Amino acid sequence: MSEGKEKVDLKNIVTSGPPVAGLVSPSRENLVEPSDKYKDEKSFERCTHCGYCRHVCKVYNTSWCETDYAGGRNRIIKALDRKDIKFDKEQIIPSVFRCMLCGNCKVVCPVQVDTLSVFQNFRKKVVKKGAIPEKLKILKSSIIENNNPFLEKHSDRFNWINACEEGAEAYERSSQRLEPQVKEKGDYSVGYFVGCTSCYRNKELVSATSRVLKKLGVEFTLFPEERCCGSVLFRTGLEDEAMELVKHNYEMIRKSGVKEVVFSCSGCFSTFTLEYSKFANHNLGFDLYHLTQYALKIVKEKNLKIRYTKRTKDDPLLITYHDPCHLGRYCNVFEEPRELIQRIEGVKLFEMKHNREMSWCCGAGGGVKALYGDMALEVGRDRISETRACMVRMREDRLKEAIETSAEVLVSSCVFCKNNLFQVATEDNSPIKVMDISQLLADCEFY
Ligand code: SF4
Ligand code: SF4
Repeated sequence: MSEGKEKVDLKNIVTSGPPVAGLVSPSRENLVEPSDKYKDEKSFERCTHCGYCRHVCKVYNTSWCETDYAGGRNRIIKALDRKDIKFDKEQIIPSVFRCMLCGNCKVVCPVQVDTLSVFQNFRKKVVKKGAIPEKLKILKSSIIENNNPFLEKHSDRFNWINACEEGAEAYERSSQRLEPQVKEKGDYSVGYFVGCTSCYRNKELVSATSRVLKKLGVEFTLFPEERCCGSVLFRTGLEDEAMELVKHNYEMIRKSGVKEVVFSCSGCFSTFTLEYSKFANHNLGFDLYHLTQYALKIVKEKNLKIRYTKRTKDDPLLITYHDPCHLGRYCNVFEEPRELIQRIEGVKLFEMKHNREMSWCCGAGGGVKALYGDMALEVGRDRISETRACMVRMREDRLKEAIETSAEVLVSSCVFCKNNLFQVATEDNSPIKVMDISQLLADCEFY
């Protein structure tokens, strides 16, 4: 085989087909369905400590600490469950919280240990016993007192509309929403749930999302009474505290009469999809959409074309897409963002080696960004390196197609991914630009 031919084959292997060749778990065909006793949070009993999930655990591959990967953590859970070891508050904290709850171990586990349920339940138990990191105590009291984890005033939550015309219009519509004549018309059936991080820390993403919805011709409203969705609390074992927020937000949306709720934050979206749906017995009374799903739905319904205004078909922006764990592995939304991107004229999508179910975590999930910031950056660094490797392939392609461009962009669809990866790329002076999909879409024309 010639050298040139080998390169083409390698590109085909890593950019199409199953998520990662050679890294899928052994066949589960002969596996006996677990009895209820060993399902979900009790499924740690099934862990054989085979170590198969070690290679996908970005925390373990950063720390090389045995209790940081799922099999090692399961040993501790088993030992505590059987009272083989003593519960020590201080010692237990790192092995409980140094996990991004990314779910990659769950994907590869050959015996179907539901690591996400196991670890969330483990967090709940240890927190109840008083093993709670100091920083988490601060986050918790801020959420309870201010309805956001940032120690910001609740009354400042919608300050971003002062610099966003589309947001201000949506806010104005929110007050009209409950007026009888508007209700009768059946108008304003779409609501945008913004989320704490976007409201207080990433106003540019809220503005971009608002612009995109307006460009799509959607007359959306906001929820001025919106509070934190509770995601941080659910992920860190503080489920009881989160339930107050769930009740409030759920009743607020029901009362508004909104039938479709759009999210730009994957964390809020997965919390509504999983926890809120469970709370409402899987009958929320309104539909949930991530922005990528909603934009694609409207584009299809209205038969719209999309054009990226900053580049052309012959000189496209070369991008790769990072799957947020909360959108991908948690909610199975893998294809809609890709389909949307592929419909944009002036943009060309390339896949990283680890994509879809096997996508690497950005490093920010599960409270790791807040509790172990350096570790989050280290994990994010891996993702940026992988993007660079993808860009090398892009460059090869680009040469082949004689396309001249200097743009190299990593696009994600979650504010946490965007922030962590952006921080790494900036600190490392990486040539990779990081942006949220709302920002990409905001520079598009829909016609
Ligand atoms: S959920 Fe992710 S970070 Fe946690 S043990 Fe599994 S692979 Fe590692
Ligand atoms: S969680 Fe699954 S893959 Fe990981 S060590 Fe246990 S049995 Fe193996």
